Amino acid sequence: MSSPVGEKPGEACGVFGAYVAETHIANLIYFGLFALQHRGQESAGIAVSDGHRLTAYKNMGLVSNVFDRNTLGGLQGSIGIGHTRYSTTGSSTWENAQPAFRAVGHRNIALGHNGNLTNTADLAMRLGSAAGTTDSELMTSAIAEQIQKDENMSLAEAVAAVLPEFEGAYTLVVMDDTSVVAVRDPHGFRPLSLGRIGDEGWVVASETAALDLVGAAFEHDVLPGEMIVLTEAGVESSFPQGRQPSRLCVFEYVYFARPDSNLAGQNVQAARVLMGRRLAQEAPADADVVIPVPESGIPAAQGFAWESGIPYEDGLVKNRYVGRTFIEPEQMLRDQGIRLKLNPIRDVLDGQRIILVDDSVVRGTTTRQLVELVRSAGAREVHLRISSPPYRWPCFYGMDTSDRDALLAAHRTEAEIAEFLAVDSLAYLTLEGLEESLPDANQTFCNACLSGDYPTAIGDDKFVLEQP
Ligand code: SF4
Repeated sequence: MSSPVGEKPGEACGVFGAYVAETHIANLIYFGLFALQHRGQESAGIAVSDGHRLTAYKNMGLVSNVFDRNTLGGLQGSIGIGHTRYSTTGSSTWENAQPAFRAVGHRNIALGHNGNLTNTADLAMRLGSAAGTTDSELMTSAIAEQIQKDENMSLAEAVAAVLPEFEGAYTLVVMDDTSVVAVRDPHGFRPLSLGRIGDEGWVVASETAALDLVGAAFEHDVLPGEMIVLTEAGVESSFPQGRQPSRLCVFEYVYFARPDSNLAGQNVQAARVLMGRRLAQEAPADADVVIPVPESGIPAAQGFAWESGIPYEDGLVKNRYVGRTFIEPEQMLRDQGIRLKLNPIRDVLDGQRIILVDDSVVRGTTTRQLVELVRSAGAREVHLRISSPPYRWPCFYGMDTSDRDALLAAHRTEAEIAEFLAVDSLAYLTLEGLEESLPDANQTFCNACLSGDYPTAIGDDKFVLEQP
């Protein structure tokens, strides 16, 4: 996911799967992918089956660019999967777009993946170089290999047989001619929800907002380690690897998920407002106005303003029509680059002591430009408040932050960060404050990028743990 200010971690994909009898399922998946576009904008794909023949179409670009009436019309069948991709492993090429596809004997399989495996190198070594260049391709090859060994195996049996080989984060949708298998890794790093359409239709999606868009009623969050199988006969649930405590990515609440989605029973927008309220309690500031960094900072800024009693105002306007820019601005314009995405409103900022609220700062370079920008529009003081703790550690579970040295907070104290960003004061929400703003005291989260506490073993070859 590209952020409005271009420096947030990228999300690793959205997945969707559905079976609805006597429905041209490609159209339904297409709309579901619209609701998951924020999770990946590099490529999109759909695979469907009419019970005998699996067909797939994928291409680079946004969902609205990839599919049209013709491509959707060619995707015949009532069962299928869809995917939006942001590449965190492998390059951004058509070959790496998903669903990944394999022909095995008389069957075909297709797979969509959200997350990152942490044992990709081992898997690649075992499966050989022809098995693929991304973790998603390797998983597809591993499932195909199982089916090759025993053609009578169901897809669900083949998936269950290879799951113990996968380490790290994976929420998968896999299909063959007659079934869709959806599974979350035993820690449940990435979300997945099950919904129902009428009496005989079933949908799984990365976020509940996608269920809403296709008119599916929410059934339940697929649990960590749970495998859901959708077929003509209905829906089945099992736990092929047993159950483990959830380690849902805490950043889904902070930044990744849509505000209109619910995660583990809590609305994301409401959680972000609570984070802002808590931040105002933990780190008040004497100021005239609370300004959000749009759009991701808006709910936390509202919470901050409501809790502190300081007026909330929109002091930055986001250009909604900027997607990816393919050309570098000329030198003359480069310093103005941030204005392509955000422009300050002088009437709101001039002469004011502002509290600028954002949900996170990962690399920091654009935040520094943003502070300069609001000062250039007359802000007298800038008090930066961040509604999550410092992002100090790389993520190996599906975000594009694996280079620790690129993280602003990795090796700096808060005073050094404030100096780098040239703000009058800086405060982050504490980890306790963040987790107490979230749904359920019994729910446990992954917060490794904020704490350095990784829920799974990370190979020594990736990085060496050290305190900042
Ligand atoms: S390391 Fe951070 S971004 Fe990655 S899964 Fe854990 S909480 Fe989410």
